[in-house]
Amino acid sequence: MTKFTALGLAEPTLRGVTAEGYTTPTPIQSKLIPAMLAGRDVLGTAQTGTGKTAAFALPIVDALGAGAGRPEPRTCRALVLAPTRELAAQIEESIRALAVGTRLTTALVVGGVKPGPQVRALARGVDVLVATPGRLEDHLREGALTLSKVRVVVLDEADQMLDLGFIPAIRRLVAKLPRERQTALLSATMPPAIRTLAYEILRDPAEISVAPVSTPVEAVVQSVRHLDRTDKRDALAAILTARDVERAIVFTRTKRGADKVSRQLAEAGCDAVAIHGNKSQSQRQRALDAFRTGTARILVATDIAARGIDVDGVSHVVNYELPNVPEAYVHRIGRTARAGRSGVAVSLCEPDERPLLADIERLIGRRIAVEGAPASPAAASASPSEPTTERAAPPRRRRPRSSRSARPDTPSRPRPARSTPSHGAGPERSARDNTL
Ligand code: AMP
Repeated sequence: MTKFTALGLAEPTLRGVTAEGYTTPTPIQSKLIPAMLAGRDVLGTAQTGTGKTAAFALPIVDALGAGAGRPEPRTCRALVLAPTRELAAQIEESIRALAVGTRLTTALVVGGVKPGPQVRALARGVDVLVATPGRLEDHLREGALTLSKVRVVVLDEADQMLDLGFIPAIRRLVAKLPRERQTALLSATMPPAIRTLAYEILRDPAEISVAPVSTPVEAVVQSVRHLDRTDKRDALAAILTARDVERAIVFTRTKRGADKVSRQLAEAGCDAVAIHGNKSQSQRQRALDAFRTGTARILVATDIAARGIDVDGVSHVVNYELPNVPEAYVHRIGRTARAGRSGVAVSLCEPDERPLLADIERLIGRRIAVEGAPASPAAASASPSEPTTERAAPPRRRRPRSSRSARPDTPSRPRPARSTPSHGAGPERSARDNTL
């Protein structure tokens, strides 16, 4: 088995690895770190929870930490772009921890908070800047930062960037970067639009993939319960009061749904907090902190929390409502079974949602075991060590999104806003607020 010491990382970088308690590189780390250390551009397909943050963070720390160079005022040397504020905050925290053996500085630029402290941090110059696109564009427009000194760029969760309408912003940002740079694009799935973007911005990339595209984490035991909408509330309470639920995330499609479900859970005596795009940034952070520290055992979330949020010990994911976009299912259930652990994902499916379930099964290429129904042999044997493997109908050409959202009985998925951003109201904010 590869060791971190065999990947070619310098001693100060390895100190960060040790401090984080990592002993063996994950598969994406074994492949991506040497490619980035060799100076290659990278196109990486990796599921969340595979250790991809450290996979791109360590080569950055290594490259920037070795030299004596300091960033010039109002510049950064490495730029990491992430689709959501929470993910950006998490990445920045992770890079800071991995850079503990170096003197590198990091900064976070996201919407929803006052720009002043960010402007001051940028004024000094920063080694590694982690940002969401909307607020970053604001700072560039106001002259708080230029991208002329960027040596390494990472686009993380590129497919969610696409879903949130950020791709035009990404193209504008990339146009401001020096031509001589190293670029890594990472995505959980590789839809054609992301591949097109990759060809535009990457130079002869090393293509690295550690899991088949859109395959849910194998360690998640998935099941679906068919029931009427009116029965969902009781079913959810029953699932969450089961003894083996350590920590659970309940997903709804809409912000209103998330609020309603968390209220109902509170009434039922469950310690639940909600997180979605209508909450202020501090409310969102508070909810996430409560969930992370265990003050709240249940997080009710819209799909904003489906990506990237890394909370240890999420034993259960409950899809109170199925997502309109099947890829979101993969991201939702990826919140459990992280870092080699197993997890359970239960979907509550009302009759109107059956077409959404069919879309999901087509995407993941298997049927999800039905609870409380005579199960197939494969489904009946499902246990944490034996995920269901029954195949669904072969994937067929998927309906365009417009027809899916036009389905009469499912709430439509509003298209992300594409307006010109301004402080706190750029695409990052408006897309999220409209969508999630
Ligand atoms: P990520 O996919 O980057 O969100 O990482 C998922 C989780 O795996 C995080 O909690 C990381 O701290 C953890 N992790 C990353 N790399 C390793 C490693 N080599 N060994 C053990 N845990 C790791």
